[in-house]
Amino acid sequence: MATINPEASKPIIKVDKIQSTLKEELLGFFMDPNLEIGGFLGSKDGEVVELCLDQKGIKENRSYFPSITYLNTVDRGWKKKGISFLGFFHSHINGFDRLSTSDKAFFLDFLSQNKDVPYMICPLLYERNKEKIISWFYIGRDRIEEITLNEY
Ligand SMILES: [Zn+2]
Repeated sequence: MATINPEASKPIIKVDKIQSTLKEELLGFFMDPNLEIGGFLGSKDGEVVELCLDQKGIKENRSYFPSITYLNTVDRGWKKKGISFLGFFHSHINGFDRLSTSDKAFFLDFLSQNKDVPYMICPLLYERNKEKIISWFYIGRDRIEEITLNEY
C-alpha cells in the first residue's frame, strides 16, 4: 500500500485500557477451544467498557462470522449510553494466534463502509498450552498491528 507519509496519518489510539475483571469476562466467552465465538466491544473515556457476545453470528464449519444486523441493534443501545463501538472480538481454534487473511479483509471492508469509525481494536482469543490468551490488534485504514492494552 503506498502512503506518502505514514507517520503523519497515524491516528492516535485513544483507547488503551481495560479493567482486569472485564478482560476475564472476555476470556470467559471462550470456553470451547474447538468452536469459534465472537462479539463486539464498546468503549468510553479511553477504555473498553462493554462486551457483547454475538448470539446471532453465523457459525459455519466451526468458524464464526459477525452479524452486522445484531451489531447495529447493540450499537444503538450503546450510543444512548455514550458508548462507542470499538471493534470485534473473536476466537480461533487450534491455537492460531494471527489474524487470518479473511479476518483482515473483513475488518478493512468494515472500516471502508463505516466512515464514522476511525479505527478498531479487535482482540483475538486463542489457546496455547491449555492457557487462554488474548492478543489485541489495532485495525486502522493504513495499518494493522498488535498492541498492548493496560490492565488495571
Ligand atoms: Zn479469525
